Amino acid sequence: MEDFETLLGKGREFHGEVCPGIVMGTRIAMAGMRELSMDPSERNRDLMVYVEIDRCMADAVQAVTGITMGHRTLKYRDYGKFAATFVDMATGKAFRVSAVEGPKVNENDKSEKSSRPDMKEIVQKLSKVPEEDLLVIEEVKVDIPPQDIPGFPKYRAYCDDCGDRVLDRREIIIDGKTLCRACAEGPYYQKVE
Ligand SMILES: [Zn+2]
Ligand SMILES: [Zn+2]
Repeated sequence: MEDFETLLGKGREFHGEVCPGIVMGTRIAMAGMRELSMDPSERNRDLMVYVEIDRCMADAVQAVTGITMGHRTLKYRDYGKFAATFVDMATGKAFRVSAVEGPKVNENDKSEKSSRPDMKEIVQKLSKVPEEDLLVIEEVKVDIPPQDIPGFPKYRAYCDDCGDRVLDRREIIIDGKTLCRACAEGPYYQKVE
C-alpha cells in the first residue's frame, strides 16, 4: 500500500490544498480500502463508496480511491457526517468509516491559544493521531439497487408533465402519473422569464 504522504499528495492535487478535511479523508479512505484488502495504487473496479458529506473530506476520498460520480462508483448521501462506506461490489463486503466525534486535536488547540487554531498544526496532528483515536470502523451491509450499479442505463422513463427523459428509475409515480423529481417535488431552480 502506498504511504500516507503519497496519498495525501493525491488529495492535495485534486483539492488544491491540504486542509484538515483532506487529511481526514485520506485517513478514512486508507482505512476503508485496507479493510477491503484493496490497494489505492491499483484500479479497483469493484469499489463503490458512499460519501456522507459534501466537504473537503469527499475530495480526498475521491482522489485516494479513484471513485468518481461519472463512473457511478461515488454515491453521495447528504447526511452532513464525516463518514464514508466502502463497498466491494464483487464480494458484497462493506465497511463504514466515520470520524470520532470532535477530534481531540481541535480541543487542545482551543485551550492552548485563544486565537484561530493554526491549520498547519491541525494537519500535522491529524496526520499522526493513532487510527483508533480518530476513526470508527464498522462492518456493514449495503443493498445496492440494480439501477445504481455502473454500466449502461437499463431504465428510462419520460415525465408526464415536462416530457424530460429520466434515467435509472429516478422517476416518481404519483396517482398513476410518471413524474420527474422536479415536477413531483418542485425544482431547485426557478426559471427566469
Ligand atoms: Zn479543504
Ligand atoms: Zn417533469
